[in-house]
Amino acid sequence: MKDFFKGVRKHIGKLDAEHLREQYSLVTDELAFSEMIFHTTSDGYLVLNEAGVPKWANHAAERLLGMKPEDILPTLDIPLSKSSKREIEISYPDRRFLEIQTYPMGGGETLVKLADITANREKSEEELRAGATQAVRDLASGVAHEIGNPLNAISLNLQILEQNPSDKESIAICKSEIKRLDGILKGFLQALKPSRPNLMPGSPAAPLKDCLETLKAQLEDRRITVSVDMPGALPSVALDPAQMEQVYFNLIKNALEAMKDGGSIGITIGSDDNDVFVAFHDDGAGMNAEQIAHLFEPYRTSKEHGTGLGLMISQRIVRDHGGRIDVESAPGEGTTFTIRLPRIERRVRALK
Ligand code: ADP
Ligand code: MG
Repeated sequence: MKDFFKGVRKHIGKLDAEHLREQYSLVTDELAFSEMIFHTTSDGYLVLNEAGVPKWANHAAERLLGMKPEDILPTLDIPLSKSSKREIEISYPDRRFLEIQTYPMGGGETLVKLADITANREKSEEELRAGATQAVRDLASGVAHEIGNPLNAISLNLQILEQNPSDKESIAICKSEIKRLDGILKGFLQALKPSRPNLMPGSPAAPLKDCLETLKAQLEDRRITVSVDMPGALPSVALDPAQMEQVYFNLIKNALEAMKDGGSIGITIGSDDNDVFVAFHDDGAGMNAEQIAHLFEPYRTSKEHGTGLGLMISQRIVRDHGGRIDVESAPGEGTTFTIRLPRIERRVRALK
């Protein structure tokens, strides 16, 4: 289509009225064809201008949102000119979960893609188990690959110890490699057989303290500063503190790994009418739209020693809590992951 326009522009001086009419109708045919494709896909597409006002929306976007996009968009707080991914719950005309992805298009415009993920979120245990076979195979081969390195390191250091039984460094390496093996196995088991959260009322801020304590040495080592911004009082949520601590651990570890030495992580805790949220912001490498599209899928890792399991496990834990994880990022500008957990009053209302 671009080439076509270039061609027309080059020869426009030579085109007479008859030719122009012909070219014009070719263009309108092409446009009608593209528009037809956009209107017949089941995913919703919207183009927003720099003020967030929809310039264009396909039929699916209106159907999925249940009302005119311009009426509901202001309430959705869509990030403009940024890559992002989040889930929302729509209660009208019927209860559904939508995944919203944004892509910056240049010129201040934003492309928004809406997909109905209700079926995915409400998949029965049985279906999940049936689909899990391939995932288990992938997980197992990942583990087999992962344990190779620590086992090699242990075997090497045991040989050193054989020569020199008092070599403190080798003992320390063996210990830390064994810890790593333990971590790999725990991750594997958790991915394989997630345990239901043991929910109790509490504050999502409590597990954060323990988590920061665990990561303290690593953060100091990398000269990464962490600031926590939270109000004095927070509404309660139903949570499993140990599982939530693991989610925080995964997100902070990723932030740490995305930054150079001396970076900073900002953690903001707060609440709105529906949820209590915990947001983790880093000023690290950020991600492009392609990376964001595949986020939360197992084995997607950009790291040499990564497992690509951290986000998948974290999302599952948060979903088991009735919550969700949103992400916003731009290459070179850093990333924000936001965990949202429903306030207890809201859970009770939802169950009535
Ligand atoms: P792993 O950390 O083992 O790679 P994860 O599931 O935790 O697995 O993360 C998957 C991928 O998502 C990472 O490899 C990285 O490319 C990307 N990612 C996650 N968090 C961030 C972040 N804060 N900044 C930039 N990229 C991130
Ligand atoms: Mg990780």
